[in-house]
Amino acid sequence: SGTLYIVPTPIGNLEDITARAIRILREVSHVCAEDTRHTRKLLSHFGISTSVISYYREKEREKSVSIVKLLHQGKDIALVSDAGTPAISDPGAILVQHARQAGIKIVPLPGACAATTALSAAGMTDDGFLFLGFAPSKQGQRKKFLQKIKNCSYPVVLYESPRRVGEMLTDALAILGDRQGFWARELTKTFEDLQQGSLSELVQLCEAPQKGEFVIIIYPETVEEAAGENLDELLVWYRDNSDL
Ligand code: SAM
Repeated sequence: SGTLYIVPTPIGNLEDITARAIRILREVSHVCAEDTRHTRKLLSHFGISTSVISYYREKEREKSVSIVKLLHQGKDIALVSDAGTPAISDPGAILVQHARQAGIKIVPLPGACAATTALSAAGMTDDGFLFLGFAPSKQGQRKKFLQKIKNCSYPVVLYESPRRVGEMLTDALAILGDRQGFWARELTKTFEDLQQGSLSELVQLCEAPQKGEFVIIIYPETVEEAAGENLDELLVWYRDNSDL
């Protein structure tokens, strides 16, 4: 059988693709893509002419059957999504499960992912976080969802579209109270924008219509205090050790 490679692609800046990803995309017999036109453009940017077949959310089951057939025929296949890491708030999980059940070798490549990129810029001093992808788009469900994370003791990492970011943050403020948050907008792009602030400050920023894609981090209720203490400690340490 062939191998199924899971290949992250850039989330904006085309330089953010690994040398290994480029080699694999060139060497496999097919690239499975959410949007074949979008992926063909990416491939042609890197001078890659591998054939592209479609694999998208609404047809994940049917498509994964035919892709596993190709793998059984000995073809190596790369799975990509429109941006970032496949199967992270993107299609891919069904193909991966199906391939594993069929005994296919699965090789994941590390690479661009909006959540981890945002987290690295948030400057969190503890390592834990809860990644939940997109909050529900309907307000009723979103409010229930926010209720559930109310007592979570980890920062919660969410994806959000420019259209809904204002509504989501407004609901978060109403349900979770005015705790600290962080947003990373247009990561790796020209207008990359990182903002740390209280939820009410972030809501205010949304009064102007927003463009671009967002990663939102909502901190646990106690973090303001905890982060404050940590920061003080860090600053004292820095003052005492700045001649190092
Ligand atoms: N699989 C992707 C990944 O690994 O990050 C995520 C795909 S999900 C369909 C798209 C969402 O990811 C966007 O709505 C946004 O919340 C986030 N996202 C993707 N690219 C981003 C960027 N350049 N800056 C900020 N957020 C981004």
